[in-house]
Amino acid sequence: MKVLHCHDAGFNCAGIIRASTESEVLELATQHAELVHQVTLTPVLVDQMKGLIRDEAD
Ligand SMILES: [Zn+2]
Repeated sequence: MKVLHCHDAGFNCAGIIRASTESEVLELATQHAELVHQVTLTPVLVDQMKGLIRDEAD
C-alpha cells in the first residue's frame, strides 16, 4: 500500500491518501488538492509529491 500524508506536502490537513500504486496515489492527491485545497498540482509539484509517498504494510 502506498500512502501520502497531505500534511507532509505542506498543507495544514489531516488527509491521508492511500492506494495500491504510486500513480494512483498521485491521481488521488491531485483530485484532493483541487477539491479540498483549491490547488492545481503542476508536474513539478507532482514530482515532489512522489518523494513524499511512503510504503505501508497492508
Ligand atoms: Zn489535504
